[in-house]
Amino acid sequence: MSKFEDFGIGDGDVNKIEKNPDQLLSAEEDAIVLNEPDNSFKMLGKKSKYNPKSEYHADLESESVKESVENAKRIYKEFEEEFLHKLDFSDPESIVLAYEEAERRGIFKKAEEIRSLLFGKDMHFYGVVYTSDKCANNCAYCPAALKNKEKTQAEGIVYPQKALTLEQIARETNAVMDDGHTHICYLEGSPAKERIDNNSYARKIARYVSGIIKETKDRGLEEIILNIEPLTEDGFRIVAEAAKEANEEAGANVALQFRVFQETYNEEVYAESHLQNESGNAPKADYWNRRNSQARALRAGFDSIGLGALYGLNKYPLEEVRGLLEHIQELRREFPDKPPARVCFPSANELQNLNTEIQFVLKTGQTRPKKEGETLGEFKYGDYEKANRLLYALARLAMPEINIVSSERDTPEMLEELDKYATCTTLGVKPGVGGNSGIPLDRMASKRDIEAYDKAKEEGKITTFSQSTVFPRNPKETIISMKESGYNPIINLGAKNLQ
Ligand code: SF4
Repeated sequence: MSKFEDFGIGDGDVNKIEKNPDQLLSAEEDAIVLNEPDNSFKMLGKKSKYNPKSEYHADLESESVKESVENAKRIYKEFEEEFLHKLDFSDPESIVLAYEEAERRGIFKKAEEIRSLLFGKDMHFYGVVYTSDKCANNCAYCPAALKNKEKTQAEGIVYPQKALTLEQIARETNAVMDDGHTHICYLEGSPAKERIDNNSYARKIARYVSGIIKETKDRGLEEIILNIEPLTEDGFRIVAEAAKEANEEAGANVALQFRVFQETYNEEVYAESHLQNESGNAPKADYWNRRNSQARALRAGFDSIGLGALYGLNKYPLEEVRGLLEHIQELRREFPDKPPARVCFPSANELQNLNTEIQFVLKTGQTRPKKEGETLGEFKYGDYEKANRLLYALARLAMPEINIVSSERDTPEMLEELDKYATCTTLGVKPGVGGNSGIPLDRMASKRDIEAYDKAKEEGKITTFSQSTVFPRNPKETIISMKESGYNPIINLGAKNLQ
């Protein structure tokens, strides 16, 4: 049987398309990908702007591909109708039941097939720069949240808050590009709402974006992904204009993506997880301000947007897939030519001693209740692993044409499973502000915070801050292993990874 027959087409019907030469590695280039850093942009001159549509391997307008896409969506919809509230993170048995039913229906195989049809075996990557962990929001699941931080500090635990200067952001950017990344996601905590409303925060971000574009003008940066607190539409415009001007001045063509996760599409769960401060200055407390932010960014001139949800807040995870779909459909009605560049759905994971509350967190490599004499094998395939694999496969069927992201919040073994459905992943993430280039703490934190930290250190009471546990992979080993498994990693590893 042809590998595409399940979708009603044969191999010969697949409408392959010519890919953007900037995105496509020829067989020769492919052969040298592990041996030489990429300097091709210097020879090619100005690259065309990155466009997520260039990642398709098939013509989405052809009848046979449309039919396959519709078929995948139908398979997802049928499963969603039955399991929307049957798959329940508070009931471990329901995970096993849904997983087995998905296996019986061939969901995993079908998800792999539609991934291959639309994206081939390509794997895309991005690097990450954390620019600040100061935050005015109050997310129940995050140690940086104001209330969680107060509780932590009351226990005598200290973690200095860090923020980078523009110069330090440039240094971090260069370090991530040395790893071979040309798409970089910048993350930071939120300012107080008034700084969003009066656009002073947007002006700060605009200076950063402009500085990064100018700093990297000879290095081939393709995309800046801003994963920041949503701005006003005027604020987004200020940033988009700054990027445009900097590109013109530097002779560059860096694309600008705004990416923000809704976290949960269930409004009730959202309200419980994102509390307002007494001062009313936590912007994330407003569900609809966040939900409408991707549309504001596109109206204001951003090149693309990304969205996502965080598993673990809502006991019904399929509500999140459904919410993402509705959000995407809403955006596509207004912006038919701009499908989301990326969709992410990480799982919340709990950090020790930091007072976070994640109601429906699933721990890796465990089943609940623990079964007597249970052995889960070398790669522990417990409830979390089953749920994660199932949700990625379902999401691939639900949104076949969207580039889905996995991340190093998951272990390398889990990511090998998710590669079958995800088409983009992080590589070599160094969690924490300043982590890519090893910026010393005293260059990022206030004198007062450092004094408190030093004192706590003497008393043996320190913790380091990070929003989640991550499992950074060795870039070179990961690329070799992906190639051995038949994937086509779209990255030219930097010189420092080739030693
Ligand atoms: S999850 Fe993000 S927005 Fe929420 S408190 Fe943490 S850093 Fe702030």
